[in-house]
Amino acid sequence: MSLASPKRAALLAALEAALGSGALLTSDADLAIYSRDWSGEYSGRPLAVARPRSAAELCDVVAKCRGLRIPIVPQGGLTGLVGGAVARQNEAELVVSLERLDAIRNIDPDNYSMVVEAGCVLETAKRAAEAQDRLLPITFGAQGSCRIGGNVATNAGGVNVLRYGMTRDLVLGLELVLPDGRLWSHLSPLRKDNRGYDLKQLFIGSEGTLGVVTAVAFKLYPLPTRVETALVGLSSVMDAMSLFARARRDCGDLLSAFELLLQEGVDIAMRARPDLAPPLAARYPAYVLMEASTSAAIDLKEMLVGFLASSDDLVRDGVVAASRAQADRLWLYREAMVEHQGRGGRYFRTDVSVRISDLPAFVERAMAAVRARLPEALPVAYGHVGDGNVHLNVIPPEGLDNAGVDALFVAAEEAIFEIVDQLDGSISAEHGIGRAKRKAFLSRIDAVTLDLMTTLKRSLDPADLMSPGRILPSSREAI
Ligand SMILES: Cc1cc2nc3c(=O)[nH]c(=O)nc-3n(C[C@H](O)[C@H](O)[C@H](O)COP(=O)(O)OP(=O)(O)OC[C@H]3O[C@@H](n4cnc5c(N)ncnc54)[C@H](O)[C@@H]3O)c2cc1C
Repeated sequence: MSLASPKRAALLAALEAALGSGALLTSDADLAIYSRDWSGEYSGRPLAVARPRSAAELCDVVAKCRGLRIPIVPQGGLTGLVGGAVARQNEAELVVSLERLDAIRNIDPDNYSMVVEAGCVLETAKRAAEAQDRLLPITFGAQGSCRIGGNVATNAGGVNVLRYGMTRDLVLGLELVLPDGRLWSHLSPLRKDNRGYDLKQLFIGSEGTLGVVTAVAFKLYPLPTRVETALVGLSSVMDAMSLFARARRDCGDLLSAFELLLQEGVDIAMRARPDLAPPLAARYPAYVLMEASTSAAIDLKEMLVGFLASSDDLVRDGVVAASRAQADRLWLYREAMVEHQGRGGRYFRTDVSVRISDLPAFVERAMAAVRARLPEALPVAYGHVGDGNVHLNVIPPEGLDNAGVDALFVAAEEAIFEIVDQLDGSISAEHGIGRAKRKAFLSRIDAVTLDLMTTLKRSLDPADLMSPGRILPSSREAI
């Protein structure tokens, strides 16, 4: 049911007055880009889009919505993959885009910290830190589009998690607008602070359901001056994980990425990018893209080459990039595969995790389960295997209609999640629950955890106005 027009008119008038011209979008043409996410799986026309320029303006927006009991959905770069940032199809939810709250408030190189507003694009924040010889380590394919608030709200991961941790590990402080319209400002960039409960952790990964992030204090690292990249071919996923166990010991803290690709994935990359030659002289069942990096004056290349030579019982062939350009080209196999795996159409995505030691069993069993159940479909596995995180995606056969694709999604999810459950893994390592994984999440959650989460949500947001129906069932489900 969409919002009754007097209520709608009252809100729009109040917001227009509070935000000024250009900050409130209501026409179909203006709303189009805020109504569909990157995947195209989720779309929905919001009541309107508010684009505040300051945390104070946002407090005002939230307070007005609260008064009229209008739900709010915070929106960053729309690259989230679980449907959390798009309004539902009922014109009842106000989307709050953070795009105009995008300043870099400060960088303190000696404290290795920076404070960035939620609407800043991740890539912009990274470049600003680099200009001060510092590294903001969150790194992944969508970094040119996703925004800092979205990264915090999803507790984003990426290719460097194995060295620097998830977004959660990098957040020193937060500023956010609570569902009652109050500003909670804790941007202190202290490294150690044990004064009471660590409240910021509640909001990191809460997917917009507990408040709207307006600014973040991040921990920074020394900017690596030496980066070495290798792509190696291996006989199996098992060998890839044995190589990882050794690399953790022999490369120590210098290892910054360890990404798995299978031959099918490399083939997808080469079909999409005919300028890409086969990476190695022969074809291998598994490949690993490894990166080591440091700011210290040590011979990183010698270490990496030495490590690979000492692992010749596992490594069947490999190449160590001779230049940054060649390293970028090695990463291109992964990037082109990720970008083109769906052939421009719909495909089923997962981002599951299991114990690192269970990863070979997971890949083998889940691929076999998908092939048995959906023989026409193409399963593709790759991921941040140094964190036990695999994307096992399923590409429908060409020409399948929408209803067929929907049915394939259901069958693929059942087949893959059953193996995740058998191995005591997680159905979401990175992307979160949103709307896409809610049913699967709720069918697996234990009663005590559900009770704690519901109690927390109800006490912070009793009227259920912040992203209702994302993660948890909504009391407003019928709206
Ligand atoms: C090509 C590609 C590669 C990707 N690779 C990775 C990867 O390696 N690792 C990974 O973790 N993710 C990855 N993602 C997923 C996605 O980029 C991340 O989840 C990202 O953090 C989302 O940021 P966003 O600004 O686009 O958020 P949006 O999609 O706009 O929003 C995501 C969620 O956060 C909420 N939200 C947004 N802003 C705020 C705010 N200011 N306050 C409160 N809630 C807010 C939204 O309501 C929604 O629930 C990838 C996506 C793509 C398209």
